[in-house]
Amino acid sequence: MEDPRRRIPRTDHLLELPAVRAAAGSLSLPVVRGLVRGIQDRARRGEIAPAAVESEVIAAVSARRASSLSPVLNATGVVVHTNLGRAPLSDAARQALAQAAGYVDVELDLATGTRSGRGAAARAALLAACPAAEDALVVNNGAAALVLATTALAAGAEVVVGRGELIEIGAGFRLPDLIASTGARLHEVGTTNRTHPADYAAVLGAVTGCVLKVHPSNFRVSGFTAEATITELSGLCREHGVPLVADLGSGLLAPDPVLPEEPDAAGALAAGADLVIASGDKLLGGPQAGLLLGRAELIARLARHPLARAVR
Ligand SMILES: *Cc1c(COP(=O)(O)O)cnc(C)c1O
Repeated sequence: MEDPRRRIPRTDHLLELPAVRAAAGSLSLPVVRGLVRGIQDRARRGEIAPAAVESEVIAAVSARRASSLSPVLNATGVVVHTNLGRAPLSDAARQALAQAAGYVDVELDLATGTRSGRGAAARAALLAACPAAEDALVVNNGAAALVLATTALAAGAEVVVGRGELIEIGAGFRLPDLIASTGARLHEVGTTNRTHPADYAAVLGAVTGCVLKVHPSNFRVSGFTAEATITELSGLCREHGVPLVADLGSGLLAPDPVLPEEPDAAGALAAGADLVIASGDKLLGGPQAGLLLGRAELIARLARHPLARAVR
């Protein structure tokens, strides 16, 4: 009797099937070959009939897409949802992304043919949208912006933070752990529910690298609570010559009447923050990015730091 395995279609025959050739337009040859081989192996083990190999291969290559991500409907009620990709990009942003996917003049001045700095247009756009900032720097994400700021301003020194602001913003973002990883020492002040300007005043000194205010983006503590405002802390920080850094999270650049409670970069800078940190893919609606806005001298210090190249 003939061994049924001899009836398993050959690889070159399967690769020539129109549906397989069509799928090969978006999948690499090794991926298509791997799918074909996997189905032939199943037939060799007797798990499927040799006659079913062709249709199984067609189904497998048709189901396999170049992206592992599936489009979903966001019915959570949370508009900017980290698990669902945060801010969807506008059509204009998608077009810009597609245009930037090929060779582009990212670090080339087309007028002179010489090398230029990257991100000049993004910086100019941020400054136009937030004139309260003297300068701006864009990095990989909000966490990277915070790491760069605390490293450049406070490595080997202290970051003074209110105890109620030592937050976790979802998996992998625990503010205390992130700051500890930079070589800065965390100096907690106040209590979980109440922190006053005097708590900061008591610890500011020669070992202070910066004071950090953090917006508790995704939770609220209410009742018997108090916090030192940016306005209150800015006077104190100026007295001690210590930079005041505000991590706002959301990326709102200017006040929005729809979100009266949400802090914005312009407001924080006007209130006296020296440096503001935010995400680019939350309320701003851009791609994954971290924004640093504020005093030119501080932005320059951050941009000069070797770590800046690793998080650009
Ligand atoms: C979201 C958030 C971050 C982290 O920003 P990523 O862009 O996710 O890295 C940092 N701080 C605050 C307050 C945030 O809300």
